[in-house]
Amino acid sequence: MQKIDYKSDIIQPDIINDLLDKKVDNSKVDDILNKALKLKGLDLDESAELMNVTDEETAEKIFKAAKKVKEIIYGNRIVLFAPLYAANVCTNNCLYCGFRRDNNSIVRRVLTPDEVAEEAKAIMNLGHKRIVLLTGEDYAATGLDYLEECIQKIYDAKVFNGEIRRINVNIAPLSVEDFKRLDSFGIGTYQLFQETYNEEVYKYVHPAGKKANYRWRLEAMDRALEAGMHDVGIGPLFGLTDYRFETLATLMHSHHLDAKFGVGPHTISVPRIEPAKGVTFSENPPEKIDEFTFKKIVAVLRLSVPYTGIILSTRETPALRKELCDLGASQISAESRVNPGGYSVHKETDSQFTMSDNRTLDEVVRALLKDGYTPSFCTACYRKGRIGKDFMDLAKPGLIKQFCQPNAVSTLAEYLYDYASEETKKEGLKFIEQQIANTENPRVQSQLTDMIAKVAAGERDVYN
Ligand code: SF4
Repeated sequence: MQKIDYKSDIIQPDIINDLLDKKVDNSKVDDILNKALKLKGLDLDESAELMNVTDEETAEKIFKAAKKVKEIIYGNRIVLFAPLYAANVCTNNCLYCGFRRDNNSIVRRVLTPDEVAEEAKAIMNLGHKRIVLLTGEDYAATGLDYLEECIQKIYDAKVFNGEIRRINVNIAPLSVEDFKRLDSFGIGTYQLFQETYNEEVYKYVHPAGKKANYRWRLEAMDRALEAGMHDVGIGPLFGLTDYRFETLATLMHSHHLDAKFGVGPHTISVPRIEPAKGVTFSENPPEKIDEFTFKKIVAVLRLSVPYTGIILSTRETPALRKELCDLGASQISAESRVNPGGYSVHKETDSQFTMSDNRTLDEVVRALLKDGYTPSFCTACYRKGRIGKDFMDLAKPGLIKQFCQPNAVSTLAEYLYDYASEETKKEGLKFIEQQIANTENPRVQSQLTDMIAKVAAGERDVYN
């Protein structure tokens, strides 16, 4: 196939549609999977071949390869986080969203920065160390002055042995100048979802407000990276149009960022539309995807951009989240509240969407342990300066694991001593012993033993 010039535009729909129109050639799948297993990622035409697979037998091969790549790059750890919604006011009118401007059935709130700090403390008391801060899109009500104050209050807030160590943000797109300012607040990843990369569908489902401008949103990550931000997170919202187009467009967006800035997206999120109060469209989205398809999407993303984290929310059921973690997801939210004030100050406020995983963090941690995963609360890379291109240089050859695994186990130990139920603590400490015993590299094993001993003795925030 012709070489794609990813720098020429972010999304080139004709190229994607041509790839999707091709007849499936299952004989190519083995070669493509062999290439993916070398952790080199895939070209767009190769990802398209995999996306076009529909028979279960070939799909199983894709799943198997994805599991392998996940294991090599990420080991057995899953990073945990919680969303913190600061506001649900919005000037846009996205057809699928509970916060849309015309939805009169919900109570609107903008938390004060002090209330945001209270929410952060409630999240810390669960045991989380990492949050994503979200607002609706209202540049006047939740502008940068407001966000700066909220972020400062969150970092300043403390409870016994608890603190938020990394704040990712998911807010409206900004200008280059404003991204520079946002970057100065000390945030982790800037996340923004295109929702749909199909311009026609985009215009239909985003009829009003600044979000109606497709390119303003599409070019946001270019502006963020131009402004000097290091880590960005992208994603579509599945259910609006052909999932194959959305997945390939997400990959094209990734390749564009990599080609233009030398750094691909730090994360890709894979939300599906879920019902929201007062929003009929959300109950019956036009291109609903089933679980088999969802698994294929996650597996193809994992094989195509092995170095990029994949994020799952509590929109999905516990059983599906487990399967998707096996196939490639690396970060999940737990004990989430998707309404402003939902953790403490205004528990009754309406949510942005319906959740399907309502387990406590303790239950999620225990389930992960049972499945052989290390629940991780690690935030070390960001604080050690392993961000942007430096992170990618370690992540691409699979070297990041040497830092992540000890840090994951050390933060799990913190959680067990400070927040876990007796049962989870017992299981977790046994799990940690096994992890230490199974660590093959003697240097890493001794480092890990030392880190866990420090945590057991009461030291906190032990990382490398
Ligand atoms: S998706 Fe975002 S921008 Fe659209 S209505 Fe909801 S909160 Fe507003």
